[in-house]
Amino acid sequence: MSCSFDLTHYAEILEAGKAGGYRFATFGSGPERGEIYLRHDIDLSLDAALQMAELEAEHDVVTTYLLMTESVFYNLDSNEGVAAMARLRELGHTVGLHAVYPNVSLDDRFDPVVSWHNPDAEYMSRSIPGAINVYAEPFFDPPTYRSDSNQHWRSGCPHEELRGGGFPWLQILVHPEIWVYQGATMGLTMRSMLNAEKARRLEQLAADGIDLS
Ligand SMILES: [Zn+2]
Ligand SMILES: [Zn+2]
Repeated sequence: MSCSFDLTHYAEILEAGKAGGYRFATFGSGPERGEIYLRHDIDLSLDAALQMAELEAEHDVVTTYLLMTESVFYNLDSNEGVAAMARLRELGHTVGLHAVYPNVSLDDRFDPVVSWHNPDAEYMSRSIPGAINVYAEPFFDPPTYRSDSNQHWRSGCPHEELRGGGFPWLQILVHPEIWVYQGATMGLTMRSMLNAEKARRLEQLAADGIDLS
């Protein structure tokens, strides 16, 4: 098994968790022994989020999607934003807020779960009134945390330890864009994403009545 950043290996990681006896849980009570808190901070692409969400549903896995209200890359108030949130919920996932400090605009579209976008250490783990901060205790503890940031598992891909039941419990941060779009490095993956985005934007322009001839 190669630890590539693609949906095939992503599905293998999900199955490794199940084989190791873990349950996929959402932030609430807990963490309890044997639970995996799989979270997705959606920085760039609702399309990638939806592709990952569908795959998880096929594997009977529920996770937590944290969406931005202040993204320059997508708009939750657009038709596609509203449809994406509805589909994530339909698939059984939790939908929380990926917030830009210090704004916590938790309206009724969101479950009360928050992750900070690119946080500073200074405020990262402070408690947030009325919401669960995924970077605060009890859900955040470096030995039981793995992140794929910039297409690199700082402490290694967790699939082997998951299969062996090596973690008491685990929070995993996975960015869907890195797995849905392909490239040997983060830079190349981002360029793949932009190529796909270009095709999508051309369709949107045509749908908007723009003459592209
Ligand atoms: Zn792996
Ligand atoms: Zn972010």
